[in-house]
Amino acid sequence: MKTRVIGQDTQKQDIAAYPSDPIARKKAIDKSYRDRNKEQYNARARQYYLAVKRAGGQEAYNRRNREQYARTRDAALIRIAATYGVVCRCCGEFRKPFLAIHHVDGGGNKHRRSFKSQHGYYKYLATEAPLDKFQILCHNCNIAKCDGPCPHELERMKAEAA
Ligand SMILES: [Zn+2]
Ligand SMILES: [Zn+2]
Repeated sequence: MKTRVIGQDTQKQDIAAYPSDPIARKKAIDKSYRDRNKEQYNARARQYYLAVKRAGGQEAYNRRNREQYARTRDAALIRIAATYGVVCRCCGEFRKPFLAIHHVDGGGNKHRRSFKSQHGYYKYLATEAPLDKFQILCHNCNIAKCDGPCPHELERMKAEAA
């Protein structure tokens, strides 16, 4: 008689059904793992939270989250910068705190809100976002662009026309 290991068959089936694209595949496998082990997963997250909190209080927990968030944001900037350079596309600003990732087609805020968290959004940018849809702008140029062309651009157009 064949020994049947409970859970193994279903798992095999799941794996065959996963998408072949490597990023989507990893996501699906991770999600399926999380779904199957939801209780342990939540318990571990809770334990981690309590351990960090015990070690350094809520402030330390928040700081860790902020650091992780900053790293992901940097990874997103670096990925986009590898294509476009870490400078504002419009004015050449290069100081990192001034720089933002800009959605080329507009609707960036709406798109960002469709993610559960800012961190999730930057994760997406750092891994799978289509690079031709994003560029780096400084906050000034980014905001100016909401009401039509950036003043820098208008000045350039004027200079070219003269
Ligand atoms: Zn700029
Ligand atoms: Zn500008």
